[in-house]
Amino acid sequence: MGEGAGVRNGKKPVSANSVRVMQPRGVARCLDIMNKNTKAFPKRALLSVAVITGVLGALTLAAQINAQEAAPSATTPILARKDMGNEKAGKMNSFNKTDAEWKELLDPEQYRILREKGTEGAFSGSLLNVKDDGTFTCAGCGNELFATGTKFDSGCGWPSFTAPTAEDNVTTVVDRSLGMERIEVMCAKCGGHLGHVFNDGPGPTGLRYCINSVSLNFDKK
Ligand SMILES: [Zn+2]
Repeated sequence: MGEGAGVRNGKKPVSANSVRVMQPRGVARCLDIMNKNTKAFPKRALLSVAVITGVLGALTLAAQINAQEAAPSATTPILARKDMGNEKAGKMNSFNKTDAEWKELLDPEQYRILREKGTEGAFSGSLLNVKDDGTFTCAGCGNELFATGTKFDSGCGWPSFTAPTAEDNVTTVVDRSLGMERIEVMCAKCGGHLGHVFNDGPGPTGLRYCINSVSLNFDKK
C-alpha cells in the first residue's frame, strides 16, 4: 500500500492524459521521452491494482468456499455435543486431539475419512468381506464399535452392520451435506467419522450401519 501511495504522487496524471491526447509528432516524441520514466509508474500502478484486486477476489472466493464447505461439519460437532450426556462428553474430551496430533496418529487416508468425514471407494475397503468372529474397533481411539455377529452383506460396497456393539459407543447426527439428508455415525469416544446409518437394513433392527473400513480395525477372536 505504501508503494501504491507513492506511485500515485509520482505518477502526475498529466503525463498519462497527455499521451492519449493527439499531439504534433515532435511534441508527442518529446512528451514520450519526458514520460519514459514516469510512464512506467502508471503501468506499475495499474498492475498493482490488478494484482491487489485479483488477490482480494481470490481471498473472498476462498472464504466463501470455505464457509460453504465448513457449514455441514461446523454444525455437526455442536449437534453431537448436544446429543451426548456429560459422561460421554467427558470421554470424548480425553480424545480431543488437535488436528496436528490426529495427523501424526493417523495415516493420510484414515485422517481424511475419520477427521474430514471422507468416504472410501465402494468395494475398496479391506474389511468389506470379513466374516471371522471378532470385534471392529475405532481406528482413531480403539473404542469397540461393531461385532461380526451383526455384520451382513448389504451389497452396498461398505461393511454393513445392523447395530453397534453398544448404543452408547456411537453417536448419530443429521448430515445434510451433498444435498442429501443422512444420519452420520461417529465414534462416541473420539468423534471420528465412521459412516452413515440407513433404515433399509434387515431385522431385527431394520438398520444398516454403512461403515468405512478405514475407520475400523478388526480384532479377530
Ligand atoms: Zn474413536
